Amino acid sequence: MREETVHSDVSVIGGGLAGVCAAIAAARLGRTVALVHNRPVVGGNSSSEVRVWVCGATAHGVHRWARETGIMGELYLENQYRNPDGNPYYWDQVVLDAVRAEPNLRLFLNTDVRDVAAEHGKRIESVTGWTMGSEKLITFFSPVFVDCTGDGLIGHLAGADYRIGRESRAEHGEEWAPPEPDGQLLGSTILFYTKDAGHPVKYVPPSFAKNILDTPIPEHRLIRTGDNGCDYWWVEWGGELDTVHDNEHIRDELWSVIHGIWDHIKNSGRFDADTLTLEWVGAVPGKREYRRFLGDHVLTQTEVMTQKPFDDRIAFGGWSVDLHPVEGMYAEKPGARQRYSDGVYHIPFRSLYSRNVRNLLFAGRNISATHIAFGSTRVMATCATIGEAAGTGAALCAAQGVTPRELADRRLPLLQQTLLRQDASLMGVRNTDPDDLARAARVTASSTLTRLTVEPGPGTPTTPWPLDRDLGLILPVDPRLDCVELLVDAHAGTELNIELWDTLRGENAVPAHRLVSRTVPVPEGKDQWVSADLTWQPDEPRNAVVVVRADPHAYLHLVDQRRTGVLCLARKLAGEPGVDHDIPEEDGQPVADWVARGLRRRSFCFRAGPTRAYAPDKAVGGYQRPFGGPQMWHAGEPGEAWLRLDWDTPVEIGTVHLVLDDDVDEYLNNLHRHRTEFEVMPELVSDYRVEALTDGGNWTVVAQETGNRHRHRTHRFAPVRTGALRVVAEATNGAPEARIVALRAYA
Ligand SMILES: Cc1cc2nc3c(=O)[nH]c(=O)nc-3n(C[C@H](O)[C@H](O)[C@H](O)COP(=O)(O)OP(=O)(O)OC[C@H]3O[C@@H](n4cnc5c(N)ncnc54)[C@H](O)[C@@H]3O)c2cc1C
Repeated sequence: MREETVHSDVSVIGGGLAGVCAAIAAARLGRTVALVHNRPVVGGNSSSEVRVWVCGATAHGVHRWARETGIMGELYLENQYRNPDGNPYYWDQVVLDAVRAEPNLRLFLNTDVRDVAAEHGKRIESVTGWTMGSEKLITFFSPVFVDCTGDGLIGHLAGADYRIGRESRAEHGEEWAPPEPDGQLLGSTILFYTKDAGHPVKYVPPSFAKNILDTPIPEHRLIRTGDNGCDYWWVEWGGELDTVHDNEHIRDELWSVIHGIWDHIKNSGRFDADTLTLEWVGAVPGKREYRRFLGDHVLTQTEVMTQKPFDDRIAFGGWSVDLHPVEGMYAEKPGARQRYSDGVYHIPFRSLYSRNVRNLLFAGRNISATHIAFGSTRVMATCATIGEAAGTGAALCAAQGVTPRELADRRLPLLQQTLLRQDASLMGVRNTDPDDLARAARVTASSTLTRLTVEPGPGTPTTPWPLDRDLGLILPVDPRLDCVELLVDAHAGTELNIELWDTLRGENAVPAHRLVSRTVPVPEGKDQWVSADLTWQPDEPRNAVVVVRADPHAYLHLVDQRRTGVLCLARKLAGEPGVDHDIPEEDGQPVADWVARGLRRRSFCFRAGPTRAYAPDKAVGGYQRPFGGPQMWHAGEPGEAWLRLDWDTPVEIGTVHLVLDDDVDEYLNNLHRHRTEFEVMPELVSDYRVEALTDGGNWTVVAQETGNRHRHRTHRFAPVRTGALRVVAEATNGAPEARIVALRAYA
């Protein structure tokens, strides 16, 4: 046996997506980082060892413009490119490559941390892990530690305060909380994959397979041939036990049921399964819940549902509050109860550090949230963005010699601006970075989209879309809206009811408050432009929803054309299926009632007049993602286009950050629950050059790129002194016009 010591600026323990993103974030800020993980593959529950698919704030496309950016966004895009079939092994490599790309980051696989040297409840000095297969005992020293173990062992050993189980309603006033606190948890799950062998395959069940006909499962859960992996998320058990100390027992029960389900499928004669075989059964139970640390703030269900706009927001979520019956797969009620907020909600930094261990941050499923709020924050893309924030916080603490609490109290703008500079997932926070020279420049462009309209070109086919239900059209209102025209067919003369609704919040995209209501006569006839006066000028740019009420005689025209910042919605009818076929959808949830599914990348034909929503200055000092509007510059003409910065006094520039549009409305999933057709987002600028104006009045290329498929690009070059800089977008990955979300310039 060997003993070793490792000194770093930041130690991250646990290499699930939270830990991976925490470690990468800290390493990118120039800190030395040790990422210590007890499995041979990174990714935690998303890895090929467990195979949970990575979901996040889009919630399978329920929320609009909600996909994560930052490191999680990069992983999604890279996986989309490399792994269009959703192969779990290819995903492992995407995550591992992202870790290995960081020169400041040392990865310790197979290293299980079991000891913590700490002044109990005060400060961690070091953690020690045993590396299996190498017979090494490694002690990791650093000024700050991030517990991303999911189960929270590191914090526990250090004496950090935590909770296990459910809080009572009296504690935080949560609607779904029980009257009394208890130890109920979400249970653990093992998944399995099947495949068609192409020839008959027998199945002899092992001795431990359970006869599932003796259980409530066949009656209360959907069993189908062809389902794989996360389709069986409901094979869950252990919520009434201790999901850590009973882990082995839980695994055996889950295995017995999986083999029982497979025996049922193969041998009951009720399924067409002759040529099917078991391809893979997990051996590591995917754990959903254990310790939740107590930070300076405990995130609650009420704050999630009301989307509390925390001043110290560092990430956002959007998954429903998604809780499961404690009996898991043996419950006689549906496997989950889910409720969505009206848009994404915010996560405060104070939920990411211990209230009593001074140098401990945490990220992932163990953050300071109640059991109910955790029901939403626990999905992995959200855990990843929390990880990026915790890693960023840890790096700043190490660099500045402060504790996480001091960072939260005194240097919050530094934390948020650092996150935004890295293109992390922050909603509604503006770039106020004092070092960003672009903010002092005049911003102009070769052309700009200035009219809000989607019209069918000559010969462009449109689909008549019946008004058998209310339809909606989300539009950016910037600075005002006047008349809106819609292309309508009417089989008989009618009166259309057209309304304008405020969305009330920048992060929301559902009708919330009715502003204007009009009744518009429409004669019988085809291809009629019908106009409604919907005049509105909000205090600041905001999305509004034009609602066209159901009408038995009328149709809108739908065209296969995407207009950035515009989305079409259809009102769900009573009894229609929800997002998940096997989870009943509660009434009164605007994002579930107003469905964008099936209408994305298409638009009802409309004309809504002039707009500033795509102006060049949106790309400088802005929100860097959709918030009350698209928040990007959008060229007005197809083909090559440029965005330009001019300074009154020349400045020295050596670094340029570019954020390119990758359509954060497009829902992605690492294992492709819903397969997205694009391997590269078509909106992304593929070929571009960055040029500085030199003394002779010529443009000199300082950076150039071809074949780009990333959203966030940083170019460092020999500093130039210049009065003007421009980005020339030469081509995109398919979209006709160029778009730039953010342009930053640094000395
Ligand atoms: C079956 C199932 C279905 C789910 N469904 C979804 C879904 O559809 N989409 C979704 O996004 N999320 C889903 N979730 C939730 C999600 O998987 C978890 O909340 C998420 O994985 C938490 O991420 P994490 O990084 O905090 O922890 P984990 O993914 O649990 O990763 C933590 C890692 O730390 C390692 N570790 C633990 N202790 C130590 C130690 N002492 N030393 C070193 N390493 C250690 C562990 O081995 C583990 O790999 C599901 C979970 C389960 C179990």
